[in-house]
This record gives sequence, C-alpha cells and structure tokens, in this order.
Amino acid sequence: MSSRQPPSAEADFTPRRVETLRASFQEKMRQKGSRRPGRSGGSRAEVRFLEMVHGPHPEVDRLNDRFLPGAPRLKATVDVLGFESHTDGVPPTLVSHLLEIFPNLERHRCCGGDIQGTLFRRWRQSGSILPPGDRGLDFCHLLEHLALELTRGMVPAAPCAGITCAHREPAHRFDLFLECEDARVGAAALRCAAHVLLALVHPGQVPAGAFRFAETARYFLGRPRSLLNPGEVLAALQGDPSQLQGALRFLAAAGFLAEDRFTADLGETILYRYRLAPGIPPLPISLPL
Ligand SMILES: [Zn+2]
Repeated sequence: MSSRQPPSAEADFTPRRVETLRASFQEKMRQKGSRRPGRSGGSRAEVRFLEMVHGPHPEVDRLNDRFLPGAPRLKATVDVLGFESHTDGVPPTLVSHLLEIFPNLERHRCCGGDIQGTLFRRWRQSGSILPPGDRGLDFCHLLEHLALELTRGMVPAAPCAGITCAHREPAHRFDLFLECEDARVGAAALRCAAHVLLALVHPGQVPAGAFRFAETARYFLGRPRSLLNPGEVLAALQGDPSQLQGALRFLAAAGFLAEDRFTADLGETILYRYRLAPGIPPLPISLPL
C-alpha cells in the first residue's frame, strides 16, 4: 500500500574453489563504482537507505488494516533519486520481467484491491507519463511489495504487511514500514528488492542471483552460527552455481551476510566464507552498489 500521508559446479564452485587476487581487485573496483549514479548529474536511478528503526511504530497502525497491532515493524527512510529526470520512464517490460522472477507478486493485495488493478496497471500503462513526484512514489511502492515478497520467501510463516509513506519535503524521501520480527530480514529484503528493481530499470536485466536471494537468506537464518563456504551452501541448496554465488555476493555486499576472506597458496588465492550478520549494517547505503 502507499500513502501520501506523512507518518508521523561445479568446477568453479567447490569448497576448494579459489578466486584470484585479480578477480578480487576487479570486484572491489566494481563495488567502489567508477560511476556514482545520481551524484554526477546522470539520469541513473539511485536508492539511498538513510535510516532504519525497528519497533512497533503505532503511528502506522491505521494505515493498513493487515497490520497486526503491536507487531514489530522495520521503518526504513529512503531517498529515491533519478526518476525526476527519467523522461523515458521505466521500461514497459519491467512488470512482466518482475513477475517472471516473483510470480507470487500477482497475488498481493494493494490499496483495497489487487495489485494488478492498482499498482501494476499504472506501471504498465504510464511509467513514462506519471508526474515526476509520483514516479518516485510508485517506485517506492513497488519496492515495498517486492520487499514483502522477499520477506515471505525468507521467513515463510511470518505475517507480512507494509505501507509506503511519502514525505512532503523533500519529495524524493519516503518511509517504508515492513512488518517483520527480525530487522535483518526486512533490511535485507529491502536491499534485495532495490537491487532487483534498479537492475530492471537499467540495464533492464535481472541481476545475478535474484532468483535465489530469499532462499539463500532463509538458509542462513536457519543456521545463525554457521560459517559456511560457497561449496557447502551449494551442496545444500543445489542449482546453478553462478546464480547462487551471485546471491551470496549480493547478500554480503548488502550487509545481510558477513564475509570472511582468507588467503591460500602463499597469497595467490582468496577463499570466502559467509555467516549471518549479527544486526543491521551501518547506514547510509546507496544502491546500485
Ligand atoms: Zn500496495
């Protein structure tokens, strides 16, 4: 829901797999980013997570009748930048691509109706002609629904509801509220959702590992004290190693997993191990990474 009311393999993926220092350096450079969308006057969309607070947030009780009174919610204050100058709007294929990855999104309820008749209809018909202020709100609203879907994938039995509220000033700032017992789940779901949506807007492709974000996060949530290498995770979850590696890397870059690196072969190679992070990572964080 949204509101304008201010709230208040195998060969390269075994446990012995090594990654070269060159690859590590390239990854670091990629993460540092030679381009910083939204900061250099470019038109690339950017999402900045400014603050996250976990608590009951009773101020939004009345904004969604699916909220459970007293249940903990994650409030995320987010800046959505770059949509004002997106004269082309978003790709008309965004919703169909999204539904290929997350088909259960079609079942979401939204603003008193179903999501097809409300939010998706707006995106399919008018991504490019929405007023600039509403483009950001609609993006954030879609971010909320995708984060809820990812939350459900990470903790399937958990209740799941959310609300998106726009600040009056600045117009690109929003507060998203997600019901979640574990703040790490809501925070990871929001970051994964932003990563997927930004990649679908530009370059218009599904990011590596997106199909497996929730499943991989769920696996680590069930093993909060385990330190696991990629091969061990692959042995348990199976599937395409490169997709799983993409999920592990993004979950680590987004702060849901802590990544341990250590060298082998006289420093020629770097090995990785992952464990569940103890809490929400430091903010602010901007995406794309
Ligand atoms: Zn909605």
